Order: sequence, then C-alpha cells, then structure tokens
Amino acid sequence: MRSYLIELMTFFTGNLPSSAGITKNSETAGRIRASQIAALTNVTPLMMLANIVNAGVVLLFIQNDPYAEYLPIWGIALCFFSALGIYKWQKVRDRKSYSASMRAQKKFLQSAALFGLIWAFIPMVYYPHSGPGTQVLVIAIAGGMMGGGAMSLCSIPKAMLIWLLSMGAGCAIGLAIAGKPSDYGLLALLVCFIIMLLHSGRSLALNYLNNLISAFSLEEKNDTISVLLKDFSENTSDWLWQSDEYGTLIHGQEGFETYLGTIPQCFCVTGKKETADFVKIKGANMIKKYWSNREAFMDVQVNAFVDGKIRWISIAGKPLYDVKDNFIGFRGVASDITDKKEAEERIAYLAHNDALTGLVNRTHFSRSITEHINSKDEKGLWAVMFLDLDGFKLVNDSKGHAAGDQLLEIVAKRIKSLCTDNDVVARLGGDEFAILCRSANSIQALTTFAEKLINAIKQPYQLVSDHSVSGISTSIGIALGDHGAASEESLLHNADLALYRAKHEGKATHRFFDLEMDQLERERRLLEQDLREALSKDQLSVSFQPLVSAETKKTEGFEALVRWNHPERGIISPTEFIPIAERMGLITEIGHKVLCEACYHAASWPAHLFVSVNLSPQQFINSRIVKCVTEALTTTGLEAHRLELEVTEGLLIENTENVTNVLKELKEIGVSIALDDFGTGYSSLSYLLKFPFDKLKIDRSFLMAIETDEMAKNVFAAIAKLGNILELKITAEGVETKEQVKVLESYDCTQFQGFLFGRPLTIEDMPAFLMQEHNCTNDVDTQTDDESKMLA
Ligand code: C2E
Ligand code: CA
Ligand code: CA
Repeated sequence: MRSYLIELMTFFTGNLPSSAGITKNSETAGRIRASQIAALTNVTPLMMLANIVNAGVVLLFIQNDPYAEYLPIWGIALCFFSALGIYKWQKVRDRKSYSASMRAQKKFLQSAALFGLIWAFIPMVYYPHSGPGTQVLVIAIAGGMMGGGAMSLCSIPKAMLIWLLSMGAGCAIGLAIAGKPSDYGLLALLVCFIIMLLHSGRSLALNYLNNLISAFSLEEKNDTISVLLKDFSENTSDWLWQSDEYGTLIHGQEGFETYLGTIPQCFCVTGKKETADFVKIKGANMIKKYWSNREAFMDVQVNAFVDGKIRWISIAGKPLYDVKDNFIGFRGVASDITDKKEAEERIAYLAHNDALTGLVNRTHFSRSITEHINSKDEKGLWAVMFLDLDGFKLVNDSKGHAAGDQLLEIVAKRIKSLCTDNDVVARLGGDEFAILCRSANSIQALTTFAEKLINAIKQPYQLVSDHSVSGISTSIGIALGDHGAASEESLLHNADLALYRAKHEGKATHRFFDLEMDQLERERRLLEQDLREALSKDQLSVSFQPLVSAETKKTEGFEALVRWNHPERGIISPTEFIPIAERMGLITEIGHKVLCEACYHAASWPAHLFVSVNLSPQQFINSRIVKCVTEALTTTGLEAHRLELEVTEGLLIENTENVTNVLKELKEIGVSIALDDFGTGYSSLSYLLKFPFDKLKIDRSFLMAIETDEMAKNVFAAIAKLGNILELKITAEGVETKEQVKVLESYDCTQFQGFLFGRPLTIEDMPAFLMQEHNCTNDVDTQTDDESKMLA
C-alpha cells in the first residue's frame, strides 16, 4: 500500500511526458504539453461556469451561519477569477499551438492552486461552525467540486494533484476543527476519496497520454509516407492511381495523360459513368477481366501508339473494400516501361540478328532449319548453303577493320538481293554467310543460284572510305535437305564439308555435299586422333631424297621428308597428314623433330653433302624458328652452310615484314633458303626480289607438262632464266625419266630431284645408296676420307 502510494505520488509530482519515457525538452514533450493545455482550455468555460453556479448555491444557502458576512467577498473573488478565466479563454481559444513550454503549463498549475484555495475556505470555515444542514451542503459541494475538478484537470496530472490537495486540506482542517468522532470518520473517507480520485485520474491521464503518443506517431508515419509518395511520383516514371467502383479514375489521371496522352479505356468498366477521350490500348481487356472478377493483378503490360511511337505501361492494382465490405474501386501503381521494353526488344533483336549486317545470326539460323525440318508443310527440294569469302582477310588486314565491315555489309546486301522471301539469310560470323533455301526447284536451279552468288560477290566493291576493292570471291558448300540429313546439326555439318571441299578445289566455286566427303571427314578425324599418339609413340621418321648436280649427276645433298609409320595403315604420306598437323597446331613440334633429326644425321655425312629441311608457315609464328635452328646446329655440330631451309609462297603472303626479318636472321646464321614448289602458288616476282632466297625449286607439275605442252616448256625456260639473272640456284623437282633430263639439259638448272636419281631413303638405306653411286661414278682410289668413313 505504501509503495503504491509512493508510486502514485511520484507519478503526480513528476512531469507527465518525462514519466512516460519522453525527454522533457523533446519536440514530442512540447507537443504533448500543448495538447494537454488545449484539452484544459476546452473545458475552461465549463469549469468557470461550474465555479460560478456553485458559488451561487453557497451564497444562497449559507446566510445565517457564523462568518457568513465574509461570503460576499469570497463570492466576488471567485466570480472575478472565473470571469477572468473565461476572458483569457476567449482570447486563446482559437490559437492552436504546436508545442508548449513548461512555463505555459505552470500558469494552469497556479490557477488550480488559486481556485483550490478559494474553495478550501468553505469547508475550512463553515463546516466546523455550522449546523448539520449547512455541513451536508458543504460536504456535498466540496465532494462534487473535488470530483468534477479532478476529472476536468486530469489531462495535467500536477494541476489535478494541486487542486485535490488544496481542496482536501481545506476539508481536512474543517473536519479536524469540528473534532467529533464522526468527523474523523469523514476525514478517513475523505482520504480514501482523494486516493481513489488520484488512482482513476492517473488511469485517465495515462490513457490520454498514450492516445496522444499514438496519434503523433501515426501523424509522423503519414507524413513520412506522403513525403515518400511525393518523392516516388516526382522522381520515377511510376505513379499511383485509384478508381471508383465504376472504374472511373479518381486519382492518377495525370500519370496516364503524361505518358499516354490520355486515359486508357480500361478505366470506366461498367460504363455507368462516362470518361471522355479514352485511348485504345492493347492489353486493356486483361485488366477488364481482373476487374470484373475483383481480382488483384500485377504487371499487366499494355501498349498504345502515342505520336506515332509505341508506349508501354505496366499496371498493377488490387480491389478496395469499405468497412462494410462493399467494393469501392481499385487502387494500384502504373509505370511507364517504354525504355525498358525498347531495351528488351533491342536485346532480343541482337540475340537473333547480326548487329553489322542485320542478317539473322547462327542461333536463329539453326532454329529456322529445325523449324523447317519439323514443319508439316509439303517440302520440295530444299538446301542449306554455306558461303565463305576468299580474300577477305587481306582487305581487313591491309585496309582496316572499318573497310572490312563495309565490305561485309555490301556482301550481305548482294546476297539478300538474290534471295527470295522464302530464303533465310544469315551471317554466321567473320566472313561466313549461310542461306536456307526453303524451296529450290531443282539441283540445276541451286547450281544457277550458287553461280549467281559467286558472280555477284566477285564484282568490285566501292567502299565509303574511297577504297575500291576487287579480288573478293566466295566458295559455296551446299547440303540438300532431303539428302539423308535428319537433323539441323548434320545438315550444317554437311554444308561445312562441302564448303571445305569447294575451298580446297580452287575457290570461287561451289560443291554439293556427297557421302564420300563424309567418309573422308571421318577418316580425317580418326587420323587426327592417331596423329597425337604418333608423336608420343615415336611413329614419325625422316627419309632423305637425293638432290643431284645437273651437271655431274652426283648427289650434292638430301631433302629431309617426314614419314608416318602408322601401326595399322602402314606408311602415310605427308601430303595427307601435314595439313592436319597444321590445323591441329602440331606442326611446330613435328617440324622441330624433323629439323633436329635431319641435322643430327647430316652431321655424320661426308662434308660436301647438305641437308634440306621443309618449314611450314606456322613455324614462323613468334620467330622461335631462329632459336630452333641455332640450337639444332649447335647440338648436332652441323655447319650452318650445310643446312638449307625450304619455304613455300604461302608463308610470304601474310605478315611480309616479319617474315623478311626472320629469313634475314636465318641467313645471317649461315643457312641457305630455298623457295619450294615455285609456280604453284602466287608466283609473284616481287617475292623473289624482296626475300633473300638462294634457290628456286620448280614444282613437279611444270616438269610433267613440259613434254606435252609447249607453253609450259617456255614458262619453265623463263623461270630458269630468271633464276639465273637473280643468281639463284634452280632445282627441277620430280625428274622421273631420261627424256625429261634431256629436255632439262637445255635449261640452266643447277640441281635435279626425282625418282630417276633416287627415291626418299631411310637412314639405314643411305650408305648403300652412296656406295652404289660412288662405284658407278668414281674410282675407289678417289674416295674421300668422309665417304669412306660413312660407307664403313
Ligand atoms: P615437297 O617438299 O615438294 O617434297 C617433294 C615431294 O615430292 C616428296 O613427297 C617426294 O617424295 C616427292 N617426289 C620427289 N621426286 C618425285 C618424282 O620423281 N615423282 C613423284 N611423283 N614424286 C616425287 P613427300 O615425301 O610425299 O612429301 C610431300 C610433301 O610433304 C612435301 O613436298 C612437303 O611439302 C611436305 N613435307 C614432307 N616432309 C615435310 C616436313 O618435314 N615438314 C613440312 N613442313 N612439310 C613436309
Ligand atoms: Ca620440299
Ligand atoms: Ca617441292
């Protein structure tokens, strides 16, 4: 009980906002004080009126009692202060303060004390000295005033306490002066009454305070929400909308008007209320459906043409119901997603199309083939064509990528112009194009079409950059749709094989796929697998073919030629596996092996014999070849002048500057350089001047033609003459008959190479060969030391 009373008093003597955990100088405390004051101000006139009426009752009924002469003064004082209270109230009643200070609250405490003391006078003076009638009146008025006053003042608990204490003190003094036992009983009751009033006053005060705090926080939340919403609508292309139960927009029209120019027709569903100027939008029916079902919806995308441009809006909404569960409309968010849609469309376009030419890309092309295969339509003859430009790399490298891009664009246009709407034209990447001919009348029609394409692409190109380009052509591989190709994948594969064939059979031409190509491809793949093994299992060996002097017919050196001893297939020709090794990137390793082996054997040959080693263009990449050659010479001890390196014209076309430098470096080491297979490639005379060659090897095909073709004879003679002028040695390759030798004798050849003088020999067969040659042409006495060493 004691602790309860202490707690009660602490509550009333403390400052209310602070006791509720709110700092007294905080904004909330100020607002609470202002609300307390406003609550009290509201009841002020009523309280003042109650004072005046009660004062009237006192004056009317206490007249003949002792000290009644003081009552008029008391009454005047009370009425004066009450009137003053009303006057002050009138002045401030319309003033709404957001916050109030502690000082402002103090004035109310003072008033409570003033009125409490005035009223304390009545029980204190008139209760002890009057008769029972007046005593009852005094007790009733005092009790009523204490109760009524306490309830009215409960919004400011301190004022309530002051009021009750001052009134209670007056009553207590009056009862104590009266001094009868019943008066002490009444005194006890008075104490209980005051405690009860304080108890309920505290509950009311706390309720009031909690309500205030909740109201403030709600207000604060609403403020935050409205700030956020304002920010949301101002800074994004999203806006809130709301409609009434008829579908007419009551909020958010501006958003629709801004982005669509007007309001979409999906609003105003039942048509009971007409909204003017709807814009027809696609997708609005979806919304209407949700609407009639009173269903919430999300991200319904609608679009409309506004000023000739398509605009996209995403709308979300949910139905609204009032407290009685009546449908009152829809509320939701709408956003302009035009930019997002455009970006999506662009991405989708790029996913299916080639950005440079606008043709479809590989993914889309493959899909078109699959769709065509799966379609139930009647299919006639149809085909897939692969086109690969010849000579494009040269343009790209010499004239720059921008020129290359322009050229590809023109090529795309030329191809398109020859195709029908039924064809699908694609750029597969780089300089590769493809056509799906969904309806080709006949093989003849396809052949004509391919020839037209080749012819169109062959025409010169005028680029914007003032570059004029000619010499571009295309190879075409054609796979027929009904030619056993069950899937898109196999069809593309077949077209690719046919293209490969076209490229290797002369370029600027077309080839149809046939099953033999497939067989060859299969074999090539098997070879690829085996070739890797061959290297690790040491199945590669080197043979040596003699090169004889044109004059003496004596062997001057040997050409090292690689051999592959396949465990199942026997000896495989380098013409078959060298291109595969080049494609697989294995040629550098093979070339290095041949070079080392050739140098190793040559080092043990008689000193007048040289060795010639073939180099593939790939061995020139990264210039490692100079290091390889130097190492091979150092480790085997072969003198540099006894090593000859054979290169082909293919090497000279690309990266001319770098190749010239490497060849010069090789020459500085002391090795000689031969240009192999002369006459089969580009045979540009400028190469002969630009590069430091020592020897020209005229290709076997010339020699084959010499006997029958007068023109070939003349060309051969001209090449030999040119070699002489340029002081190059000339080797005639592929000499097989004595007749050929006879013809060749009239030209200025330096060396002959061919089966007539010797086939490629294994290293084991070489001593016997040299011995035989030695016996035929030399007396045993004239044998050199080296020769006898080797023959031994
Ligand atoms: P190549 O450099 O022109 O070598 C000459 C080829 O002609 C050799 O074929 C040789 O056996 C052949 N041959 C020589 N005389 C005659 C003849 O009178 N009649 C006929 N019908 N053929 C003759 P092989 O050994 O099959 O080599 C073919 C090609 O493979 C070589 O042509 C060369 O380009 C390449 N090759 C061979 N070994 C290597 C190598 O170690 N590295 C590189 N990169 N290529 C090599
Ligand atoms: Ca050669
Ligand atoms: Ca050759």
